[in-house]
Amino acid sequence: MSAARGEPLLRLEGVSKRFVKSLDLAERVARRFGSDVQEEVVHAVESVDLEIAEGEVLGLVGESGCGKSTLGRVVAGIHPASEGRLTYRGKDITRAAGAEAKKASLKIQMIFQDPFASLNPRLRVAEIVGEAPLFHGLVRRSELAGYVDQVLASVGLDASYRRRYPHQFSGGQRQRIGIARALAVKPEFLVCDESVAALDVSIQAQVLNLFMDLRERFDLTYLFISHDLGVVEHLSDRVAIMYLGRIVEVAPTEELFAGANHPYAQALLAEVPRIDSRRRIFKPVEGEIPSPIDPPPGCAFHPRCPHAFERCRLERPLLKEVAPGRYAACHLNDRS
Ligand code: SF4
Repeated sequence: MSAARGEPLLRLEGVSKRFVKSLDLAERVARRFGSDVQEEVVHAVESVDLEIAEGEVLGLVGESGCGKSTLGRVVAGIHPASEGRLTYRGKDITRAAGAEAKKASLKIQMIFQDPFASLNPRLRVAEIVGEAPLFHGLVRRSELAGYVDQVLASVGLDASYRRRYPHQFSGGQRQRIGIARALAVKPEFLVCDESVAALDVSIQAQVLNLFMDLRERFDLTYLFISHDLGVVEHLSDRVAIMYLGRIVEVAPTEELFAGANHPYAQALLAEVPRIDSRRRIFKPVEGEIPSPIDPPPGCAFHPRCPHAFERCRLERPLLKEVAPGRYAACHLNDRS
């Protein structure tokens, strides 16, 4: 589906990611003795088509276990895609090697949910932030100290913090160190995976404002992954909704929040905690999310969908344009 404006910076075509769950010892022994026990395949991401324009913020939302973090890691080059194609500035980066892979890996950086777990506790801030730009030859050793100070200042951290270790900081400050580490290699595209979820609400707002400030200052593009629709509504240009490994709806943020097309998106939106009611509890959509090891046939949402009909149980709906710039995967759109 088309990005909101201009040629896409990043394009995903039919991207899938599957993980094979290996047999344990007992299962391997059982197989040797004739049991037909098989390795299980987790369908984490299935046939995702997506485009993100330069400078855009695309929010990616869905319940826990829907595959959104895996998709973020495929985009960031942490997991290789099992199938499909990723192009960045028109160049195929799916299986890029050598200099091309290095270039792509620097341009797309990931910011993780848990800033403490993602920072090496034995390294000082100066090493955490300065290691990658020095290794990749983006800065000379003689200029490194000044460069690190400059990057720290860009995320609102004082240069005097450079000799401290991660455990000496608050959660919000640690997340700023994580952001500084990503910025230090001069990225163009940030994949933020639940990057404010572990922070207090007041700190969340500060870090979200920092992301938007950095967007302006460094012309950044974002894939912003979150289970919190309120956060996504606040900062995204468009939103993609994911369910059991597939994108089920993509729309400009205002249009989606004014009225979602897909029944799953409608159910998620009905549960958004509104600031005006001060309701902060996120209620899950009714029913259990099915296993990605054995996804239901037809529309994967049909066991939970209040509008499901016969065709839904048999045929998988494709993501189609339902209005200019709006895409949804639901058979109801084919009914007159
Ligand atoms: Fe519901 Fe059918 Fe649409 Fe799936 S295709 S969301 S089951 S109506």
